Amino acid sequence: MTSNSNLIARTLRSVWHPCTQMKLHEWLPMVAISHGHGAWLYDFGGRRFLDAISSWWVNLFGHANPRINAAITAQLERLEHVIMAGMTHEPAVALSERLAALTGGHLGHCFFASDGSSAVEIALKMSHHFWRNRGLPDKSRFACLTGAYHGETVGALSVSDVALFRDAYAPLLRPGITVMSPDWRHAEPGESPLDYAQRCASALERVLQQRHGEIAALIVEPLVQCANGMGMYEPEYLQLARALCDKYSVHLIADEIAVGCGRTGTFLACEQAGILPDLLCLSKGISGGYLPLSLVLSTDAIYEAFYDEQVTRGFLHSHSYSGNPLACAAALATLSIFEQDAVIESNKRRAARIDELARPLRAHPRVQNFRRTGMIWAFEVDPAPPLFARRFSAAALERELLLRPIGNTVYFMPPYVIDEEQSALLTDRTLELLDRIV
Ligand code: PMP
Repeated sequence: MTSNSNLIARTLRSVWHPCTQMKLHEWLPMVAISHGHGAWLYDFGGRRFLDAISSWWVNLFGHANPRINAAITAQLERLEHVIMAGMTHEPAVALSERLAALTGGHLGHCFFASDGSSAVEIALKMSHHFWRNRGLPDKSRFACLTGAYHGETVGALSVSDVALFRDAYAPLLRPGITVMSPDWRHAEPGESPLDYAQRCASALERVLQQRHGEIAALIVEPLVQCANGMGMYEPEYLQLARALCDKYSVHLIADEIAVGCGRTGTFLACEQAGILPDLLCLSKGISGGYLPLSLVLSTDAIYEAFYDEQVTRGFLHSHSYSGNPLACAAALATLSIFEQDAVIESNKRRAARIDELARPLRAHPRVQNFRRTGMIWAFEVDPAPPLFARRFSAAALERELLLRPIGNTVYFMPPYVIDEEQSALLTDRTLELLDRIV
């Protein structure tokens, strides 16, 4: 029978973990997960952990969700996978149609891949190839925000600005043109988040004015720059950026891989600004956190620029698992849960309750910039001792919490099934941890 210690020993001999200095596991606990149920994960010894970060922001409706399980099982009986070039199937079509409908038909063409970084690569390539097909091949650069994170494949990393992920690979990259992030933590003292967002938009305009001849697209993570410590900003910035992109003939790419699927309080984060991008990337939560699935939605105008007799004017990109039927079935079940359970509405009540429970946390003397957008809570811990994030995570596990601070930023991104008792456990024990990790 598998035990925690046996599985961990075998893991450390054979598996190379993502985003991990493996040597740290000499002292940092590795957890062997046996199964999951709802917001809980369990190890082989029966210890439980509240998945307060939705397993890297993917799991929306809990582990072993009966409705998603049933949808995948039913699909498994019919068709597990089929090549997506030259063949089609119901789950991919139905999913494309439902997503297009969620954008009011504005983003009517869906291109499928498997992971978030690939969706970003696709959006970048599509944007450049669009301009090339339109006779503007010099539009081959991309603007991104300071502190941006869009994934870690070489193209996605080029438009990311998180030193930790980028520095070692810098010689491999053709860096994006960074423009000031509207993350209000960078506002001047006394400057409101809105004033700061407007100032950042003016800075964006100066760059686009000068360099629109070489810029194909501006890529942004709408409302929350997640991997950069949950930097939050005003929707007005997106409105201004949309208008500037139109003015200077630059595409707007919305990377909603982390912030989409209800995470910011609307199904798409862009909805809060009343805008739509030219290209929109989704992944993570779209399959309910079950199977690797990503996709890029594009406008008719972009699609039509590729529609031609010549193969080379078509979009040249392929993924073996593009449009995987099982992943699409999981996504369709996920969208059905949003509708059937009126999730966006019920999350408003859930979030308001967590706000109340988090009041003592907010008032803690070491808690700075306590903030929330939708179902994302974050705050900085100041002062934070050395190795804060790792020590905090390890101590959290001892208190049944799966939490992974980013630097000195603690955040919660719970699944949308977190209940009252679990919410109280999360806020109370986080408070305890603050007094413990000094
Ligand atoms: N974009 C954003 C905003 C992300 O948060 C992530 C993943 N954290 C990615 C892209 C990359 O997705 P993946 O890890 O699936 O490649």
